[in-house]
Amino acid sequence: MKQLTFILSIFLILVLGSVKNSFCQEDKFIIVYNNMSAETDLESDWGYAAWIELDGEIYLFDSGTKGDIFKSNLEKLNLDPGKINKVIISHNHYDHIGGLSAISEELKPNTKVYLPEMIDDELLKQMNSLDFQVEKDFKKIGDRIWITRVMENPANRIKEHALVIEKGEKYIIITGCAHPGISGMCKEIADYFQGKTPELVTGGFHLIATSDSNVEEISATLKEIGIEKAGASHCTGEKAISIFQKDWGENFVQLYLGDEYVF
Ligand SMILES: [Zn+2]
Ligand SMILES: [Zn+2]
Repeated sequence: MKQLTFILSIFLILVLGSVKNSFCQEDKFIIVYNNMSAETDLESDWGYAAWIELDGEIYLFDSGTKGDIFKSNLEKLNLDPGKINKVIISHNHYDHIGGLSAISEELKPNTKVYLPEMIDDELLKQMNSLDFQVEKDFKKIGDRIWITRVMENPANRIKEHALVIEKGEKYIIITGCAHPGISGMCKEIADYFQGKTPELVTGGFHLIATSDSNVEEISATLKEIGIEKAGASHCTGEKAISIFQKDWGENFVQLYLGDEYVF
């Protein structure tokens, strides 16, 4: 009888342990800063940031504009900046990098911050406990997570890289503003990850001043690349977003402030 109780206890520990593990290991990202907002208690403001939980690691992609709003949104969502393992800044614009100094003291010392180019010296001095890395090429920064090559908009010289998360035979693309051009960026990523299917592209597509017919063309190009779902947001612009919503139907994913995507 004692033996049976012992075996039963071991069985229960194993079962409960695996339930707990699978619960904790849910891979997802949450939009923690966005000017696009549906129903949420969080504060909406111009900018973008995504909190990514992947294989037990935490990645922060961009940091919004205002430190106080960024911090209070994280607090409301119960997300602790002290748990972040790596930070990726898509490009050197205030609405993506502005909130970083507000959490720099809470980040672990020597936390790697991946940038597409050096940001201003004053800001770097304020955050001297962090390890800033300027990367130019595709780089794997975790088991299933990559930053892309730094791409540049030839007209305004804005340099930007995007984030790619692998998911078996598929992958997800997250962009900050996509200044180099959303379709060109996605094409280059698709070439690099040839043989895999792009499940989703989300973030800012920077189409605020783009004509409706050009937005329709870009939307069609993204489909031709083989992208299954689109989550246009941030600087895509409300008009362009509504074109995407119509064009992608049930494959339009709303990823506004506070929304999350489980993968
Ligand atoms: Zn932006
Ligand atoms: Zn920008």
